[in-house]
Formats: sequence, structure tokens, C-alpha cells
Amino acid sequence: MTQTHAILFEQFAKLTQPFSGITVSELEQKIDQYSVCPDDGSALSEVLTLVGQNVLKHSVAVHHPACIAHLHCPPMIPALAAEVIINASNQSMDSWDQSPAATIIEKKLVAWLCDLIGYNQSVADGIFTSGGTQSNFMGLLLARERYCKEKWGWDVQKQGLPPEANKLRILCSSKAHFTVKQSAALLGLGEEAVVLIETDKDMQLSLSDLDKKISEITKQGLFPFALVATAGSTDFGAIDPILGCATRAIKHDMWFHVDAAYGGAVMLSEHYKHLLDHIQLADSITVDFHKLFYQPISCGAFLIKNQDHFQLIKSNTAYLNPEENELEGIPDLVTKSIQTTRRFDALKLWVSLQAIGRTAFAELIEYTLSLAQKTAQLISNEPLLELVNKNPTLNAIVFRYIGSSVPTSSVELNHLQTLIRKNLWESGKVVLAQTKVDSSTYLKFTMLNPNMTMKDVHMILDQIKKMGNDIESQKRKDDYHV
Ligand SMILES: *Cc1c(COP(=O)(O)O)cnc(C)c1O
Repeated sequence: MTQTHAILFEQFAKLTQPFSGITVSELEQKIDQYSVCPDDGSALSEVLTLVGQNVLKHSVAVHHPACIAHLHCPPMIPALAAEVIINASNQSMDSWDQSPAATIIEKKLVAWLCDLIGYNQSVADGIFTSGGTQSNFMGLLLARERYCKEKWGWDVQKQGLPPEANKLRILCSSKAHFTVKQSAALLGLGEEAVVLIETDKDMQLSLSDLDKKISEITKQGLFPFALVATAGSTDFGAIDPILGCATRAIKHDMWFHVDAAYGGAVMLSEHYKHLLDHIQLADSITVDFHKLFYQPISCGAFLIKNQDHFQLIKSNTAYLNPEENELEGIPDLVTKSIQTTRRFDALKLWVSLQAIGRTAFAELIEYTLSLAQKTAQLISNEPLLELVNKNPTLNAIVFRYIGSSVPTSSVELNHLQTLIRKNLWESGKVVLAQTKVDSSTYLKFTMLNPNMTMKDVHMILDQIKKMGNDIESQKRKDDYHV
């Protein structure tokens, strides 16, 4: 990196706000100054200066403690160093002859992850993916292929969907990630193939409702073939009852997939890993590293209990992974992936684990979980705010500003949350998320940043209260004038 670029990134790192507050049209205008493809090029240093002024300056500063909207982490520095190597060496994970050392590193990491989960390492397997969306899709893809093969001797890979396809059903909680429905649509089953199970007061899948829905749909002659449990729901960080789900899946011959995109990271912590007890009963598991593992986007894994299931989606291509390679023991990872050309993302996790070590890695995660606990405590003692998840399992906190208890309609209260979030975004001071619980709007913190302190939490809550109060008093003034 030249000095200019080092300075550029330093400026980005020192941004005093998480966002510049620029609007969509202002930003479009700024970028429109530049032809996308000029006839003649400029010096790279000039181009990168423009990137600093127009792109970095108006990016969200993920490392800023007041950037707490989404499962969007500040990446750790060892991983950034690894990214440079990943990009410059440009290995492609599809075949051994494009990624020899990279293939071994990925295989070793997969074996380590399987061991961490409690899978039997000699039969389990997995593959790195672009993230949870792809991993969840792969889980449901294998589930569909397996069910059709075992139930009807039908090979979906070759024959397409079986005649009974419109009777196939996937079960998951109403708080499961939207990619379960998206996968159902992509798999040709349609979103309506997903049956939503109610959640209990802790936002976890209700086993009694699961039993009820299973019996209802089987009575209707439908075929529930997959059950998805979420280990760390995106909104609440809630973890579904894994053992209870596994038992039902086994009893009713459903593929059991655990979406641990968010919560998977607690496997590293001696203190919290019990939250994932029995996860080794899952047929397949989603883990994301670009969330609570602090890796730059993108980085995820898909793990399976029984490696034979990869056969269901395998294809051999003469130019890439001929069958002779397998006989010779040459691993071409393309056989386990739905991607062909694929990044060597495993390296950044490997380098991070080498540089930081498991103990310190676990401490980062544990710190953010305890910070979230303290924040929940603080919010629950705050009369102007109302907390939904009193005892956050991970580090997501859902709450709303209820203000000075002047009776307000639920519509107004919903609008107030939206305005608080929007105004803070436009001021650039706090990047918050919002979500719905039933039909009410709430604000959300996703507290992934290990550099955040309670002092930051106090500051952010003060900003929210001040913004809420400003909006309310403005409204009172407006009402008075009308
Ligand atoms: C983030 C997330 C996903 C989607 O993962 P991507 O990495 O964004 O593709 C799926 N499930 C859960 C629970 C998530 O938190």
C-alpha cells in the first residue's frame, strides 16, 4: 500500500460517526461525476483517492461502536491480511489443480469444525460457502434429494421433481430466516411448502405446536421432509430446542437442518457452548464466519453428518474433476459445492485462528454476549424504553422507545420507532435496525463489536431518547398549531 492509501484507510478507521448521513440522490450525483468506463485510465493513486472521497467516506463504518444494526461485523485484522493473500494468489477451490494447498487447508478446517460440533469426523464432511443463504439452500437441497430417493426411488438430480412434489413440506419456526422460504421457492416447491411453527415467549420454536402441525399435515396426506431449527435467530438470537427438534425429525423421517449462521460461534466458548448441546444430531448445519467469527464478507460453511449425502448432488466433468481423480485420491472440492469457481475463504479463518487462538477468540464472543446482557439490564430499568427480550441468549436486543407515557396509539408508536431510526441514520450518529414483533415496530441492536463498551451503550441510548423526545415535542407543537 502506498502512503496515500494507508492514510485513506486510516481516515476511514477514524471516522467519528458510523455514517455520513448522505441521501440516495446526493450519493448518486457524486458517483455520476465519474464515467464508469473512461476511454483512458488514470493513475491508480488518483483513482484510489477518489474511492476514499466518494466511496469510503459514504460507507457504513462497521468498526464504529454506534454501527449496531445488523449481523454485520467489524472484520478482524489477521483476516484482512489473509484477504490480501487470498486475492493475490487467486486460488480456485473447484479443483485440486487450481488450489492444492488451499484444498488441504479447507479440508482441515472442515474436519476441525465437524469435531467441534461433535460429529463423527470419519463420516462427517462439509464445504465452505458464500454464507448462510447458500448453506441453508444446500441443506434443503440435500433434504429434498434424500427424501425423494428413499421414499419414492426418485432421483431429482436426473428426473426433476417427482409427481408428489406439491405435497412436500418444510417445517421451521415463524422466526426462522427468510432464506428457508427462498430455498423452497428455488427448489421448485414454492414458499407455501414451508409450514411455520409458532414460537413461545422466548421466541423459540414451540415443540407442542410442532407436534400439532406434524400431525395435521401428515393427516392431510402431505410429506414433511425437512425440519429447520434456528440456533440464533436473526432478530432475537433465540435458539430453538435442538434435542426436541432432533427427536421429532428422527421419528418422522425428516432431514434435520440447524441454521447456526449466527449462533454457531458459541462453539468456541467453554462457557456458552452448552447452548448448542445436541447439535451433532443435525443432518446438516449452517455456520457463518462473517458474523460472530469476525471474518470479512463472505465466509460461511455447510456441514453434514454423513458425507455420503454429497453424492446426491455430485456431478463429474471431464475437464475439471474426472472420476479418475477420485480413484487416485485427488480431492476436487467442486463435487461438494453448488459453486464452481470459488474463493479460498477458508484461509482467512485459518489465519485468524492461528493468530488469535481459541481462548482469545472465545473471549471476544463472550465479551459481546455479556455486554448485551448488561445492556438488556440497563434498558429494562429505563422507563422511557421497553425491552422485548429480557434475557438475550446471544447479543441481539429488541426494544422500543415508549416515551413520556402520553397515551399514543399503536400506529403512532410504530411510526415513532421508524422516525427515530430514520433520523438517527440521516444524522449519521447511530446506525440502528428496526424489526416487527407481531404487528408492532421495534428498534434493534446487534452487538457484535468487541471494541464497544458500556460507555458507548449509554451514549447510544441517550441519542435514542433525545431523538424520541425531540420527535414527540415537535409533534406536540404541530398538534397545538393545527
Ligand atoms: C445471516 C443469516 C442467514 C443468511 O446468511 P448470509 O450469510 O447473509 O447469506 C441465514 N440464517 C440466519 C439465522 C442468519 O442470521
